[in-house]
Amino acid sequence: MKENVLEIKNLHVQFPIHIGTVRAVEDVSLNLRKGEVMGLVGESGCGKSTLGFSILRLLRPPGKITAGEINYHGRNIGNMSQKELLDLRGRNISMIFQDPLTSLDPLYTIGDQFLETLRTHEKGIKKKIALERAVDMLKNLGISPNRLYEYPHQMSGGMRQRIMIGIGLILNPDLLIADEPTTALDVIVEAQFLDLLNELREKFDLTIMFITHNLGVVAQASDRITVMYGGRMVETGTAEDVFADPKHPYTQGLLASVPNIKLEQTELQTMPGAPPDLVNPPPGCVFHPRCPHVMDICKQEVPKSFRANGHMRACWLYK
Ligand code: SF4
Repeated sequence: MKENVLEIKNLHVQFPIHIGTVRAVEDVSLNLRKGEVMGLVGESGCGKSTLGFSILRLLRPPGKITAGEINYHGRNIGNMSQKELLDLRGRNISMIFQDPLTSLDPLYTIGDQFLETLRTHEKGIKKKIALERAVDMLKNLGISPNRLYEYPHQMSGGMRQRIMIGIGLILNPDLLIADEPTTALDVIVEAQFLDLLNELREKFDLTIMFITHNLGVVAQASDRITVMYGGRMVETGTAEDVFADPKHPYTQGLLASVPNIKLEQTELQTMPGAPPDLVNPPPGCVFHPRCPHVMDICKQEVPKSFRANGHMRACWLYK
């Protein structure tokens, strides 16, 4: 089995606010093996982006990790100094976001933004060398080197997203966290982006955590899938297993609510109810108010994780 690039053990993340404490991530444990793409899926507010920010120790105040640990190649990120964390972000782990316009600086050319990243992490790097590396990266992205002298607003959304990835990979990290990277793209550009990501994964030997609410995207892009609900991991397995045989009622509901391209469905199914209030989550299984299979035990005890053939589900149905 390949080595773990990332190991998350029993992670809890909370946001103390004036009306109580938001339990954004509750007891999450997962591994990313070298070279794999892990799709992290769930509805908005389920804790998936908070998990991504926790990995880089970039939680916005008042968010904090209250328990558990995160190891990158066996090193506990919680014990790293500020200097080590600065190195970790960019050199080792890179994160890209949904909207490149909010991450790219509109006042600087694309070339300047590559230079800024390189100079922050590689003090004293010569401008000529830095520009050569930026040009090489643009070629990997299928973008003409002339674009280095343009500003973000002169590019299409798809091209800006590719530039974001290029800046994210210029320091050769081995772990990429992509947070809803295709949400702002139309379906054609989205498909091109996913192809490019796959190419870059091979070329740069990347391990990828792909955070999205879009099951169609995750099906194309991922080797393994982790489904989150109400801050908890409810199911994880290979993409094939989870799509062919979803075990958790929430995953089953999510898949049933995706339009079927073969038009075998006459009606789109919806899940009743709303995501839980994470300040006052329901007792027991956090999904129980919406679950069609709810039992007495579900209202009292948080379900344990049950595994079969590497496919995990946290649900009392599998006790
Ligand atoms: Fe439904 Fe109970 Fe399973 Fe929760 S533990 S998903 S309420 S059957």
